Amino acid sequence: MIIGVPKEIKNNENRVGMTPAGVAELVKRGHTVYVQASAGANSGFSDDDYIAVGAKTLPSIEETYAIADMIVKVKEPIAPEYKLIKKGQVVFTYFHFAADKLLTEAMIESGAICIAYETVEKEDHSLPLLTPMSEVAGRMATQVGARFLEKPQGGKGKLMGGVTGVRPARVLILGGGIVGTNAAQIAAGMGAEVLIADINLPRLRYLSEVMPKNVKTLYSSTHNIKMELPNIDLVIGSVLIPGDKAPHLITKEMLKLMKPGTVLVDVAIDQGGCFETSHPTTHSDPAYVIDGIVHYAVANIPGAVPFTSTMALTNATLPYTVALACKGWKQACKDDPALALGVNVVEGKVTYKAVADVFGLKY
Ligand code: NAD
Repeated sequence: MIIGVPKEIKNNENRVGMTPAGVAELVKRGHTVYVQASAGANSGFSDDDYIAVGAKTLPSIEETYAIADMIVKVKEPIAPEYKLIKKGQVVFTYFHFAADKLLTEAMIESGAICIAYETVEKEDHSLPLLTPMSEVAGRMATQVGARFLEKPQGGKGKLMGGVTGVRPARVLILGGGIVGTNAAQIAAGMGAEVLIADINLPRLRYLSEVMPKNVKTLYSSTHNIKMELPNIDLVIGSVLIPGDKAPHLITKEMLKLMKPGTVLVDVAIDQGGCFETSHPTTHSDPAYVIDGIVHYAVANIPGAVPFTSTMALTNATLPYTVALACKGWKQACKDDPALALGVNVVEGKVTYKAVADVFGLKY
């Protein structure tokens, strides 16, 4: 099969759909991989790195789309890419169709086979191609929280780990899933006093077994959160109610309970945010202050660390890419129900119920 890896053109997207390690696996199995020139540059991979493992490079995005049976990328195609996608071409990437009617219509019209990373779903309902980005976002959340706690950034001026004779910072993590657990691990490693709140008691039980001693658990209720806020330095919002907007666990009124310079990092901002006063921000202007409380609410946190994010994402996508290339999409999906759930649009028809329902389309 001929596989194309175009350069991402969405604003500030520095990741790439395949690393040289991924190319090597495909070439080894007899496939041909075309990587657009400089596609990997912002993730730390030069054209020579790709050529060294057997890839061919093409100068333009047009040529990369034109030659490929399957496109492997990161972000959903944006308007200039719509016309490049061909009938019968497999496009394997994040799509987030339900949030984008124009994209859905364009992909229906293209006649392509669109397999969305975000809906590949295992039997236990885990989302193997979303998990790596939640891991990155959780670890980053603590890192940026620590930075914004510094005085020149608007924070209280507290060091996460404290020093001898001085208490460390107190971190409250709302939601103990993938993001929350990764945030807690980093905060604990920095020496902070960490509290993870969740409504899922078995999950809290598990976390209290596996987390280090400086991580405690708390049942998540408005009362319990209110009791903690006066003494907290950094709050990380990482709740998820699948398919729904995030609940506002901290209201505007509750900001008054916190001391000025407290930092709120709202990772759940891509689902509307779990603090009432959150609005989406960008890496170029990531934070703002309301009532003395610093808010950080970047919607694509992993974009800031493309070296790590690209590796994490492609480690997870590669086995699926190999299956699609070696077996063809129909057989690969027949053999793997998790991958089959990723199929959202096939040759002009929406094949994923939730997407069809959102736009009132035939399913
Ligand atoms: P997850 O499903 O693994 O974890 C969510 C947790 O929230 C679960 O343990 C659940 O029990 C808990 N929860 C639900 N309601 C709660 C409540 N009222 N109080 C406390 N906990 C509650 O999800 P995840 O992968 O950790 O993702 C969390 C959020 O982060 C999602 O909204 C996801 O889209 C977002 N995310 C954002 C970025 C970004 O760049 N901003 C990147 C990755 C993920």
